Amino acid sequence: MKVTVINTGSSSIKYAVFDMSSCILLGSGLLERIGAADSRLRHRRLNDAGAFDELVRTRPVAEHREGFDFILSVASELRILSNPDELFGIGHRVVHGGDAYREAVLIDREVIANIKRFAPLAPLHNPANLKGIEVALERSPGVPQVAVFDTAFHQSMPPHSFHYALPRPMYREHHVRRYGFHGNSHGYVAKRAAELLGKPLEAVNLITLHLGNGASAAAIGGGKSLDTSMGMTPLEGLMMGTRCGDLDPALHFYLAKKAGISLDEIEKLLNTESGLKGVCGVNDMREVERLAAANDPDAQLAIDMFCYRIKKYIGAYCAVLGRVDALVFTGGIGENSPIVRERACAGLSALGIAVDEQKNTAVSKNEAEIQADRSPIKILVIPTNEELEIARQTLETIIRAKGMPRESVCS
Ligand code: ADP
Repeated sequence: MKVTVINTGSSSIKYAVFDMSSCILLGSGLLERIGAADSRLRHRRLNDAGAFDELVRTRPVAEHREGFDFILSVASELRILSNPDELFGIGHRVVHGGDAYREAVLIDREVIANIKRFAPLAPLHNPANLKGIEVALERSPGVPQVAVFDTAFHQSMPPHSFHYALPRPMYREHHVRRYGFHGNSHGYVAKRAAELLGKPLEAVNLITLHLGNGASAAAIGGGKSLDTSMGMTPLEGLMMGTRCGDLDPALHFYLAKKAGISLDEIEKLLNTESGLKGVCGVNDMREVERLAAANDPDAQLAIDMFCYRIKKYIGAYCAVLGRVDALVFTGGIGENSPIVRERACAGLSALGIAVDEQKNTAVSKNEAEIQADRSPIKILVIPTNEELEIARQTLETIIRAKGMPRESVCS
């Protein structure tokens, strides 16, 4: 029972093939620089010894259709997929489902029209996601295809949490509201956290922190998202690699009127020139930490700001939830940076949150508990697995649509 997950970007295609009877990853890859002369496909395949072999191929790939054919030829050559029609389903990551989707859906004409309709809310992502859907439908017309939305998990937010304090027509006519993103990651780690805590998902209250190049926090009450730091777009909330996070909205008028910067330039500034990069010149946290250790004051300030923002959201979400069972760190930074985990939790023992220094620095690649013995709230590090979450939702959606029994499927 094979399921492929596809994440199509404007110049890249990421994919993963799972055997869903055992939740095993059979192969995955990334085709980058579509449109350039040196497009590169990096592919990993599970070998008989249970390890991954890597293969890298470079050749010009003019556009996405050609990219899919290139990937399919490699998958077939490596015998991961001898025929695309042997797939049980294809799951597409779609960034913005607006307020139309609370869960994954089988793709049909109406779903495609809705993804187009919400494209103005995610102009960099939805059109690219659609390209992937169109080509996959062409190449594998007999395989059920599912759209899995980044926004769906947060559709459980109550109105007082998702509305902005703006005149009502802004919401009714222009869909201006908070949607939230990284839903598949928050959803995946919430389920794993519930399993690790030995409680049903519906019984746990969590603060999940997805800290990667993009970063967001979520307050999860009774297994459902009640609030999250990203808003109508992924620009709101925590400080990120190149995105500013929370700002005074009046800053836009000031920059436009007083400094003469155009709206397009402001948009670029806030999305691609701000965050860690804006404060210290680099957006990769490993490099920021290296510079900070070498006494670079801007890098030290960037880490202080990054962690302080996280701490503010932890405090706010303790207030939102009332009772918290666990704090969960995930994403490239959350999984790998003891400094960020330690600083984000520093001084929070009055809220029941305290990190054990030794456990924190000993974390390596696996799931771990890092709270001090005196900390009533557990602090978990859980590597995220958005692809597996998308594969599971794809499978469940198809099984539901076909009225099949669920027993043969891994959980
Ligand atoms: P994306 O949002 O692109 O999926 P990731 O979740 O892969 O991002 O996270 C990328 C971030 O994780 C980068 O800032 C990177 O520097 C950071 N990171 C990865 N490994 C480490 C590490 N060992 N220490 C600190 N930061 C790390």
